[in-house]
Amino acid sequence: MKIGVLSFQGGVAEHIHHVKMLKSAAVEIKNSYQLDDIDGIILPGGESTTIGKLLIDTNMMEPLREKILNGLPTWGTCAGMILLANSIENSNEGYLKVMDIKVKRNAYGSQINSFSTEALIPQVSSSKIPLVFIRAPFITAIGSTVKNLCSIGKHVVAAKYKNILVTSFHPELTEDLNFHKYFLSMCR
Ligand code: GLN
Repeated sequence: MKIGVLSFQGGVAEHIHHVKMLKSAAVEIKNSYQLDDIDGIILPGGESTTIGKLLIDTNMMEPLREKILNGLPTWGTCAGMILLANSIENSNEGYLKVMDIKVKRNAYGSQINSFSTEALIPQVSSSKIPLVFIRAPFITAIGSTVKNLCSIGKHVVAAKYKNILVTSFHPELTEDLNFHKYFLSMCR
């Protein structure tokens, strides 16, 4: 199995490391031709405006969107979640718009309000897993067909719809491999 990590900017190396720890191949994805050769793709955290701009500049937006709609298993962490959302609070534009969620950017505040916590997500692991939030978005509206995997307080921070997984937080920045294991199980 080969997992691609969109590699314009952000937490690329950390995702590649975690996928390799689970004995799967991981490759950096920088153009649309490479999309034919992978079993799943991770859109990492970083800056959604930057990654979104680079998706346009490299002509990858449409081909990637099509692949995802055709079933390519896809996981967006943090900025990656923003890229996948149908709509973004206080913005008229979205990016890939493949998942019926509305997200709020920097929903917990700025860098200084970054935090970590833990939660039990039964679909992912039988024990609590650490969740790291860095200038994180959360979901403010969720379509009826989208499954809520985890809420912290009142806010949905992980969700799944068909082949698409999104998390506000960064499992790649913890030692815990359970979330990557879960995504790999979606890619089989
Ligand atoms: N705040 C960033 C954005 O809006 C996301 C932060 C992250 O990916 N850690 O794109």
